[in-house]
Amino acid sequence: MQEKCGVVGIQLSEGDAALPTYYALYALQHRGQEGAGIVTHDGFQQHSKKGLGLVSEVFDEDDVGHLHGLASVGHLRYPTAGEINENSCHPYTVTSKRGSLALAHNGTLVNTDEVRADFEERGHTFSTDSDTEVMVHELASNLVEHGLLEAIDKTMRRIRGAYSLTLMHDDRVVGVRDPLGIRPLCIGKIEDGYIIASESVAVDVLGGELVRDVRPGEVVMLDDDGEGFESYQLFDERPAHCFFEYVYFARPDSTIDERLVYDARREMGRLLYENHGVDTDIVSPVPDSGRAFASGYAEAGGLEYSEALMKNRYVGRTFIMPTQEARETAVRLKLNTMDSNIEGKSVTLVDDSIVRGTTSSQLVKLLRDSGASEVHFRVGSPPIVAPCYLGIDMASRDELMASDKSVEEIRDEIGADSLEYLTPDDIADSLDMPRSEMCTGCVTGSYPVEIEGESCERAETERGEKAGAD
Ligand code: SF4
Repeated sequence: MQEKCGVVGIQLSEGDAALPTYYALYALQHRGQEGAGIVTHDGFQQHSKKGLGLVSEVFDEDDVGHLHGLASVGHLRYPTAGEINENSCHPYTVTSKRGSLALAHNGTLVNTDEVRADFEERGHTFSTDSDTEVMVHELASNLVEHGLLEAIDKTMRRIRGAYSLTLMHDDRVVGVRDPLGIRPLCIGKIEDGYIIASESVAVDVLGGELVRDVRPGEVVMLDDDGEGFESYQLFDERPAHCFFEYVYFARPDSTIDERLVYDARREMGRLLYENHGVDTDIVSPVPDSGRAFASGYAEAGGLEYSEALMKNRYVGRTFIMPTQEARETAVRLKLNTMDSNIEGKSVTLVDDSIVRGTTSSQLVKLLRDSGASEVHFRVGSPPIVAPCYLGIDMASRDELMASDKSVEEIRDEIGADSLEYLTPDDIADSLDMPRSEMCTGCVTGSYPVEIEGESCERAETERGEKAGAD
């Protein structure tokens, strides 16, 4: 699973915004590793540098030094919609007689084809198949007749899906969070200015202070003197926060919608023990993603927390893997066992989620080969039964292990002695968030926005309520 993107917007009262933007992107690198970009505005014109690769690969000191201006937006890309090439790296820029625009987007729109078709009918052409390019053109065309706030409002009423945005109109930096608040976005106070970013770790890295989350349906305009911001609440709908941000995507040291992600994961681990605890000799995480869950689980049961697997930090994202045996070696390349911690012991292995299930079965086998007497698997999320259309690169339905298998069939296939998951209600309890305010599309098959061919109970209920009222 991969997060689609990370976004940053910075407005300063003095100095250049590019360097703090670069550091903020570094702090958010986990949200996208395929490309990065920064666009600044010096009051007269934009300066831009984008490219494929990690932040450290895209920018050198010279690049950052040449990006002048008090205002900037930055982006990290992991493309779930659209091809991978330098052209498709954000921020997207457009210049017209109504000024210059730069737009960075985290999320995925679900009605891109419809909006694109409208433009194409009017003779418009697009240089990529990206939903963000469609969005930036919608915004630019609304700017022809309207001021910035009204143009954003009209754009938000035209597009549907998940979008946390940082955008720059000339040298004005703006943050926008979709009406359901699916992906996170926050505001921070930094030295000489303000920042809007996907996660609070981007504020921390600059020695700043988190002010608050951008609310679902809110537009935040940073003052061009870097002294403050104005807020406009354009929508007031029931939110549908992506719970997987807490389970997996966000950094554990980030605070999202007033919850520290690490604490949320520990609480999920605690609930896993409370509802499905098994008293084994040791509790081990699948590193690194299972750590906070396993520590909450072990503490709740008064059990020994001991790492049975160690991650090789120097394995890259891809390596040559021509045969099935090589795939098994690949798991060992990434994770090795610590046999003396395992031999003759019963082990509970805790992970955040099971997607395709291939790694889970290999890990159970590794532990058994290392002498574990029992291997119990506990998962800090519900079974994933459906794909994500809202900004996460997950897998298609037929690749998802739980889409057509029961928990018992999965247990049998991964070879564990027992297997238990959290339920969506457990997740809501551990986040202290009403379940009705969470997106649970990938674990229930019912999405918070209407998507062709998929169920949307929320829309059906609202239609029913409206018909009842009429
Ligand atoms: S479908 Fe799943 S991963 Fe996608 S936004 Fe909803 S909860 Fe998050």
